[in-house]
Amino acid sequence: MKSICFSAILILIAATLSLPAADAKSERRTPDGKWRPGDMARPRPPVITPSNWGSDEKPAPPPSDALVLFDGTSLAKWKSDAKKADAPADDTAKWKVESGYVEIVPKTGGIRTREKFAGDHQWHIEWATPVEVKGNSQGRGNSGVFIGGLPEVQVLDSFDNDTYPDGQASALYNQHPPYVNASRKPGQWQTYDIIVERAKLDDKGQVTQKARLTVIHNGVIVHHARELETKVQEGDLSLQDHGNPVRFRNIWLRKLNSDGAANTPAPAPKQ
Ligand code: MG
Repeated sequence: MKSICFSAILILIAATLSLPAADAKSERRTPDGKWRPGDMARPRPPVITPSNWGSDEKPAPPPSDALVLFDGTSLAKWKSDAKKADAPADDTAKWKVESGYVEIVPKTGGIRTREKFAGDHQWHIEWATPVEVKGNSQGRGNSGVFIGGLPEVQVLDSFDNDTYPDGQASALYNQHPPYVNASRKPGQWQTYDIIVERAKLDDKGQVTQKARLTVIHNGVIVHHARELETKVQEGDLSLQDHGNPVRFRNIWLRKLNSDGAANTPAPAPKQ
């Protein structure tokens, strides 16, 4: 009896060892645990028409306390994201600056700010996908906004262009679809305001408040205080070259003053 049991155990072990290793990629799930990243079966967010906020031919001037990263004239604050081997001596950004905007030159690589920014910020970025509609799904007007340590905020022509919901415009790529699809037509200027609150850490580096990300697309909230696992405290901004000539303009950030560091004292009471 004992030897039969022992044989059965051996057979069981052999069978387990011969099983193919679980495919780690196919086991991945989005943060809600319900979907595979890029799942076409996921329900689509409702399509809405946003107001015309930020869509004018000329952008609105940045607020007075903003640090301007691109004002439509120069990429001096940016460098090329191409691999070093591609450009050993020259790291200047290779995208095309036109009057008031910059256009991706496909296959030159993404661009990245030379500076990194620590702490909590509001980031403002305006973008437009090509007027001439080419390709579909992820192949139409694809770019992306990467703020250091955070998931990609997808840039895509999502006007009448179906794709997986966690990869459409303003999705947190492969994680969260936007609450609504607030996309404008191809060629029209669109805005992102991305509010980044970095994780708050105690003296031992333990998280006391998770990082939070809020995204406003064309004046409409599409993610509100999404909690993220990252402990990263600073980051640069990079824009993706996904092979489509997407345009950007009016890029700035402003510190949130969430720690009250720049507060001024209340005025003295009137006599
Ligand atoms: Mg992208």
